[in-house]
Amino acid sequence: MSSFYKGKRTRNIYNPDDSKPFKLSRSKIDRFIECPRCFYLDRRLGVDRPPGFPFNLNSAVDSLLKNEFDAIRIKNAQHPFLLEKNIDARPAQHEKLDKWRENFVGIQYHHEETNLIITGAIDDLWQNSKHEYIVVDYKSTAKKGRIEALDQGWHAGYKRQMEIYQWLLRKNNLLVSDTGYFLYANGITDRPSFDARLEFDMTIISYEGHDDWIDGTIEEIYGCLNKDFIPKSSSNCDYCCYQKAIDSVIF
Ligand code: SF4
Repeated sequence: MSSFYKGKRTRNIYNPDDSKPFKLSRSKIDRFIECPRCFYLDRRLGVDRPPGFPFNLNSAVDSLLKNEFDAIRIKNAQHPFLLEKNIDARPAQHEKLDKWRENFVGIQYHHEETNLIITGAIDDLWQNSKHEYIVVDYKSTAKKGRIEALDQGWHAGYKRQMEIYQWLLRKNNLLVSDTGYFLYANGITDRPSFDARLEFDMTIISYEGHDDWIDGTIEEIYGCLNKDFIPKSSSNCDYCCYQKAIDSVIF
């Protein structure tokens, strides 16, 4: 049986003696916040966590939403859903938008103090009547009830994601609103039959971002990458608890 896990890699590893800028995606910033040890094992020693299974249905929803908003963007119109919700925003046109949406490219900023290039790919960009750009993130899931708030502990990662995108766009000299939006597609599961069709309840959640933590965190990440020892692990991580449980029965 083949395995997804490729083991230790030799590429994309930080070398303190290399003068070339080192790329760091927003998801790796989040990994550092979750656990500096896991981050160090990955970015410095080339051992990442095993990959998750690809979320193909979520990607399909993202693609369809992009198509839908792009069709409106071309006409410089407002989406009926935004009109209905009385949201002052319309899909923005920008020559770099395709690049900013592309995975592994995204919005980039060279943080010269640390020589790190911070990257992140957005789902969509809107603009309000004050000409401020608005970061939009599409989310899809299938949960009971309406999704109208980001009130779970794990939503902190979504908020940081939004804040990093806002920060990256500001660093690219755009005027960016503090208000971003999460556009949620929630799969409805209590229909009587499937009929080869999924229906979604659409909600939109606004979020006021605060990007003042980001510069300090990049400095901390730089410090971590330049350590010559592996940082401590997080105390509440399921992966490490699992490994410790294995060690306790084997050794
Ligand atoms: S606690 Fe262990 S597995 Fe979990 S994130 Fe940290 S190093 Fe990785």
